[in-house]
Amino acid sequence: CRHLVLVLGDQLDAEAAALRDLDPARDRVWMCEAVEESTHVPSHKARILLFLSAMRHFRDALEAEGIRVHYRALDVEADPSLAAGLAAAIRILRPERLILTEPGEHRVLAALQCVAETAAVPLEIRPDVHFICSRADFDRWAAGRKGLRLEHFYRHLRKREGILMEGPADAAQPLGGQWNLDQENRKAFGRQGPGMVPEPIGFPPDAITRDLIALIQQRFPNAPGTLERFDWPVTAAQAREALDDFIRNRLAAFGPWQDAMWTGEPYLYHARISAALNLKLLDPRTAIDAAIAAFEANQAQLASVEGFVRQILGWREYVRGIYWREGPVYLDSNVLEAHRPLPNFYWTGKTDYACLEASIGQVLEYGYGHHIQRLMVTGLFALLLGVEPREVHAWYLAMFVDAVEWVEAPNVIGMSQFADGGLLASKPYVATGQYINRMSNYCRHCRYDPKEAVGESACPFTTLYWDFLDRHRSRFDSHPRTALQWRNLARMDPERLGPIRRRAEALRAELATGGSG
Ligand code: FAD
Ligand code: SF4
Repeated sequence: CRHLVLVLGDQLDAEAAALRDLDPARDRVWMCEAVEESTHVPSHKARILLFLSAMRHFRDALEAEGIRVHYRALDVEADPSLAAGLAAAIRILRPERLILTEPGEHRVLAALQCVAETAAVPLEIRPDVHFICSRADFDRWAAGRKGLRLEHFYRHLRKREGILMEGPADAAQPLGGQWNLDQENRKAFGRQGPGMVPEPIGFPPDAITRDLIALIQQRFPNAPGTLERFDWPVTAAQAREALDDFIRNRLAAFGPWQDAMWTGEPYLYHARISAALNLKLLDPRTAIDAAIAAFEANQAQLASVEGFVRQILGWREYVRGIYWREGPVYLDSNVLEAHRPLPNFYWTGKTDYACLEASIGQVLEYGYGHHIQRLMVTGLFALLLGVEPREVHAWYLAMFVDAVEWVEAPNVIGMSQFADGGLLASKPYVATGQYINRMSNYCRHCRYDPKEAVGESACPFTTLYWDFLDRHRSRFDSHPRTALQWRNLARMDPERLGPIRRRAEALRAELATGGSG
């Protein structure tokens, strides 16, 4: 063939740059369900299913347009890796040129480049148009800056794109006068709970997905997680329905409750669109435009809409810029020198700690947790315990249906584990169990007490919080962003600190040998 257009599992959009000038008569598309993509880190069954199902649906859509797809299916001609699959396809199809949209992972990019080089076929890499800020734009913004703060990047993009701005273009101001309405967005449900939360639209498995469920049960029986709840959008049309359902039924309450957690309510008012965005079934501009249209139609307050726009235009674009700018070495960051193993219960959900049991149990069941469960429950516990960041990273990459390395790694290594020393987060996100108690109902069902740091009912978050402050005192106690938090430690009666240290050490020893609280 003339061009072999490589379409990876997270590039499922017919408008992708690589498909732009495809000539169905002379070109082929290559897609490959490589075993390694599901096993290089253990992968949740629902994550494997989502990628494969969306890929097969996309293949069918391309074929319906008359495009020939060289598709390597896991159950027919399983290729061990993308590299082996591509090398085999090059031998068969003898393309003049390979065309690829920038992939979402350093490892995949390097592997495909290596195959092209070995086979001496030119590889053309095109920018991914599914981001509002290109990699080159991000690097230009970042060049010469002392710190790369989300807030500055977000304002820069809002101005550049004219999103939620008012006034003349050369002197535009944020709509409503403020850039950030976060202070209106940190509500908890209180004792009465969330009440009736509108159930999000789901997409029950069709024939393609059902076939894959059988295949995955047979090929990856030991992969973590279950498939019973699988109802994620697997086509662009479903992704659009999922977005519309969120905008209509949950956006208005998204802002105020975005940090709250509640047992048995995995989604609350969250959008459930991250996986669709990351697989490119949905464009971020479409999501932002839909939220702004809801605001203009008086269906949602500015605080909710700005909060949602900030997540997509701000955080999502920002972490991608950081991922590519920092390069593969970012994954080895470990400034806090954390070397403990990840407790076993992260893979089973079997623990006495009610918040972790609920959050991990939910991930095993749905492949989903919202950002506060990820940051302030599973992430916080690993940070306080001192788990090796690489292990934490492998867990997050495995367990969430929306996990793709460019978005997962900066969130985990930087935001949640502070392993990059503050490149991404200005301070470590650390708190006692009291934070979890305030934002959820988990502590009400727990045998531990979030107020206690020592004794039989001591909450492990609270013990480990004080121990964390103590262990990292010299790094943080004089830094302007953290000094206030560390001052509380200085005020603590030194007599209390000894028992806390001993309890923390005992906890670490217990968890390292498979204990579960
Ligand atoms: P909502 O809460 O409704 O938010 C709307 C959208 O904003 C999301 O769909 C997402 O695209 C975007 N968004 C929100 N927060 C972030 C963020 N911090 N970074 C980037 N985009 C964001 N998101 C992933 O897509 N994949 C990951 O692997 C991933 N790993 C994470 C790991 C940790 C430790 C943390 C703290 C966050 C992680 N996030 C990740 C970000 C966030 O938790 C998810 O995007 C969000 O929970 C997805 O659910 P939702 O679609 O219901 O999002
Ligand atoms: Fe989690 Fe501690 Fe609350 Fe138990 S008491 S649910 S361990 S924060």
